[in-house]
Amino acid sequence: MAENLSGKIALVTGASRGIGRATALALAESGCDVAINYLHSSDEAAAVAESIAIFGRRAILVRADVTREDEVLRLVQDVEARLGPIDLLVNNAGVNPVTSLESITLSEWNEVLTTNLTSSFLVSQAVIPGMRARKWGRLIMLSSVAAQTGGVIGPHYAASKAGILGLMHSYANLLAKEGITANAIAPALIETDMIWNNDKIKSTLIPIGRFGQPEEVAQAVVMLASNGYITGQTLNLNGGWYMS
Ligand code: NDP
Repeated sequence: MAENLSGKIALVTGASRGIGRATALALAESGCDVAINYLHSSDEAAAVAESIAIFGRRAILVRADVTREDEVLRLVQDVEARLGPIDLLVNNAGVNPVTSLESITLSEWNEVLTTNLTSSFLVSQAVIPGMRARKWGRLIMLSSVAAQTGGVIGPHYAASKAGILGLMHSYANLLAKEGITANAIAPALIETDMIWNNDKIKSTLIPIGRFGQPEEVAQAVVMLASNGYITGQTLNLNGGWYMS
């Protein structure tokens, strides 16, 4: 039986655009109050909050750079003070600078690893103590088909998304007895600002022959949030690109 998400408090990182935006809206539609984290896109984030109000749920905006520990701690404190203890975390914020194999610099490697992987560690670490105290929690991480196939962005991105799977497996294992599940979603290719429209990629890589929609990923997030028996899993959402 699906668990009722009504009244749960959700934090979605990078919720101003793309998959994060669709996820924030879908969680609100399922009854959650939602904290919308963003970094630069304040107008877009405000528009997400306005849409959430239509569902009759509370929404707050919190600008924070999730790569910085001090900002993450302020983010979590702010959400808990204004909405309440966080039940559900979606580690979604990410970047994908396309770089050729030879030209990835150490600084680009560090930027991608920090934004895509370290941020998930920082935000998870900040919310897990509260989830443990209340014996209920959902950790949902955005990985990628890049973790499984290498993908089309580059080794730095693939490594960051594979790291997320290890992080998720460890949390799932360590927290299984405490009412907390941890899962990942591995999408490809979802039509957001991150993805350039390329018919060749569409027709050659994706058997279904189209890009995915952010709402299709959001649907999977809601399913994982409302299911207490799925943990330690990677849900592939890729139009048939990678099958397992
Ligand atoms: P978008 O580029 O559309 O959105 C990225 C979001 O991340 C924005 O809201 C942005 O906020 C936020 N963000 C980036 N850096 C930071 C930061 N340091 N602190 C806080 N927020 C930040 O990406 P998508 O929606 O396409 O992707 C979302 C997630 O899904 C990513 O982790 C991505 O790697 C993953 N993914 C996406 C796929 C796709 O095909 N689109 C495929 C596989 C995985 P702002 O604009 O306010 O700065």
